[in-house]
Order: sequence, then C-alpha cells, then structure tokens
Amino acid sequence: MTPRSISLLGATGSIGDSTLDVVERHPGRFSIAALAARSQWEKLAELCRRFSPQVAALLDREAARALADVLRRDGIATRVVAGPEGMIEAATLASADTVVAAIVGAAGLAPALAAARAGKRILLANKEALVIGGAAFMAAVEAGGATIFPVDSEHNAIFQCLPAGYARDPAAAGVRRILLTASGGPFRQRTVAELAAVTPQEACAHPNWVMGRKISVDSATMMNKGLEVIEAHWLFGVPRAGIEVVIHPESVIHSLVEYVDGSVLAQLSQPDMRTPIAQALAYPDRIEAGVATLDLARQAALTFEPPDAARFPCLQLAFDALDAGGTAPAILNAANEIAVAAFLDGAIRFTDIAPACAEALARLPAVPVHCLDDALEADRAARDIARAWLDLPADTLAA
Ligand code: NAD
Ligand code: MG
Repeated sequence: MTPRSISLLGATGSIGDSTLDVVERHPGRFSIAALAARSQWEKLAELCRRFSPQVAALLDREAARALADVLRRDGIATRVVAGPEGMIEAATLASADTVVAAIVGAAGLAPALAAARAGKRILLANKEALVIGGAAFMAAVEAGGATIFPVDSEHNAIFQCLPAGYARDPAAAGVRRILLTASGGPFRQRTVAELAAVTPQEACAHPNWVMGRKISVDSATMMNKGLEVIEAHWLFGVPRAGIEVVIHPESVIHSLVEYVDGSVLAQLSQPDMRTPIAQALAYPDRIEAGVATLDLARQAALTFEPPDAARFPCLQLAFDALDAGGTAPAILNAANEIAVAAFLDGAIRFTDIAPACAEALARLPAVPVHCLDDALEADRAARDIARAWLDLPADTLAA
C-alpha cells in the first residue's frame, strides 16, 4: 500500500496533536509531508524530529528563522518556509495527497481554499473557513476536484450516517433532516446573571472535550453549534429547515440523520477526536485510533433537552445569519472572533460576545457573495464594528 502523504495545517494545536497520535500508530499507512503552525517553533522542531516532514511552515517569520536554525544545527533536512505564502506552500505541496485543515479561525481560509483548488483530500476541522467561504469554498472544491472529509465530530458522525456517495442532495437520499447534538458546554446550567461573571478559565474547562481556547469559548456560548449548523448546511446541502440542534450532555451520540421512512441513524463513540480523525484519514478503511471501548452499561443514561435560546443567543444568531444568507455568516464569524479574543484577554465579559455579534449583523447588510472577496470585505467590516462596539484598539485581530 502506498502511504497517504499528509500536510497538517495547525500541527501544534489540539487537532494537530490528535492527528499525529493516530498517524504514529500506523507507520506504513501514513507519512507526514508538511507541518504548519503560527509561531510555536520549539514544538514544531520537536515534531520535525519525530516525523521528518519535507516542509515545515510557520506564519511568524522570526519563529521560522529560529526553527530553521535549530533544524540545521540538528542536521534535519526539513525545508522551512514562512509567512502566508508558506502556509499556501504547505497546503498545496505536490507530494501531499491529504491536507488536514486544522488552523483555527479565518486565518485557515486561504490555505484551505488553496488545498481545494489543488484538488487535495481535505480533512476539514477549520469550520470557520466554510462559514466564511460558503458557496465560494464549495465551488473551489468542485472546480479543483478536491474532496472534503469532515473531521468536526458532529459532521463526521453525519457523514458516517449518510449513504456512501451522498452528493449533497438530501431529497435524493431520502433524508428528512439532520440532528446536531450539543453538549451544552460548561455553562449549561448557569443562570443569565451568573454568565456575566464567568472567567476565561471556566469557559475553557469543557466537561467532555479538551480543545483549543477559541473553540472552547465558542462551545460555552454555543456559537460553536451555530457555526456547525452553517457548516452542515454547506457540507451536506441541507436547508436550514432540515437542521435541528438537540442538547445531549453526555457527548456520546455525536449527531443523527433522520430518513423519510422514520429511521434515525446515529454515530456513537467516546468524546475523543481521534475517532473522527481516524475515520477520515483511513476512509473507506477502519483503523485503530487508540480510543477506549464505549461501555454502554456503565454509561447508563443518554439524555436530551432542547437548547435554551435565552441563555445562549449565539445559536439563534447563527440560524438568523444562515437565513439572511450572503455575507451574513462571514459577518457573524468575524465579530465572534474579535469578541472571543477580547474575552480570552480579559477585556470584555462573556455576556458581551453575543451582543457584539448581533450588532455587526444588524449594522451590515447581508449582500450576495459572488466571489470570495465579497466575504472577506464583510469579514473586515464586521471586525471594525465589533472592535468599536467593544471599545477595543483598532489593531485587535486585524483580518
Ligand atoms: P488550537 O488553538 O489548539 O490550535 C490551532 C492551530 O492553528 C495551532 O497549530 C496554531 O499554531 C495554528 N494557527 C493559529 N492561528 C494561525 C494563523 N494565523 N496562521 C497559521 N496557523 C495558525 O485549536 P484546535 O482546538 O486544534 O482547533 C483547530 C480548528 O479545528 C478550529 O477551527 C476548531 O473549530 C476545529 N475543531 C477543533 C476541535 C477540537 O476538539 N479541538 C473539534 C472540532 C473542530
Ligand atoms: Mg464539533
């Protein structure tokens, strides 16, 4: 078997760690062609020693110089590239057939799009890329002859519950609706008054999953589920009316597909990202992922409840943005990125995140996205509005 050759974008993050853990369990099956990250050169140097990639890319040029120095000193042949163009080089490397898109936020869009145009198998974790890019991103996937395998656990679950060869046409496949499960995050049982005082540390302490800080806050506001609704719309071609969210605090059922005959298929597993990553890496094969057996008798109960719109307004904002269409999802995502970064910095309260997003959506019209620049322009404008509304310095998370 020729090994699948992987370019891992976001190699130093949480999804990066889980991906490399699976890869290391199957030396003959996968090889690492490229590793890319923002600035953590010491961690990337360690990964270069372990995986001997052809290319290592760092966005931060100074960090890239430090990485190149240490690799040269250690006699490691990995070529170091830097800056936004370095990210694109890693995403389009001729020797890689598979690109794991696991950069966090809008920064992942350009490399993911380049991988789409280059016709790669894209394992998509970076949901923000699809939320911003929407139709333009899916068009690039089609034009480039690329394939998307969802890594986000809910979308991977749906992918597993859909028939093989599903072509983004729910009616043709007899799909009535899809149900995204949500854990409800760390603040599921907090009152609105309590939410105003929660800290970044509490927001990042998810009851079931260990993840990067941005997605942890998104899970706490439930914006993560909102972004996932939009992601599901684009990935599976399901209209807004065909997508439902249900709270399932145990995080054992990762999502479900309901068919017109009344059948409901679900995918269950431990809350461990190595399961969806292994499924997508090896598809259509199944490989060991290092994930423990699901002991249902010990689990005892799987419970469900409807989401509470009053305490988690971000979910409704995402449904509204999907209804509005055009640039609205890009506006929502950009305002959220600014607000979440400010909350993590201690500059604003947790309960300021949703109003900042609502303000950007209210102030900017949702115009049709004819090309990606339309979405990027909306992204920039929404960042400005969120920064002004939150009283933040103008250079906070520039687009
Ligand atoms: P993380 O913060 O742990 O890691 C982010 C990675 O992106 C790091 O390697 C970092 O160096 C890199 N990065 C950040 N900014 C960059 C930039 N401007 N340019 C280039 N690289 C940059 O985040 P994570 O939890 O691994 O999440 C990554 C993506 O996967 C997010 O979009 C998230 O929504 C999605 N996701 C994560 C999980 C999870 O369990 N962690 C689950 C589902 C989806
Ligand atoms: Mg998810």
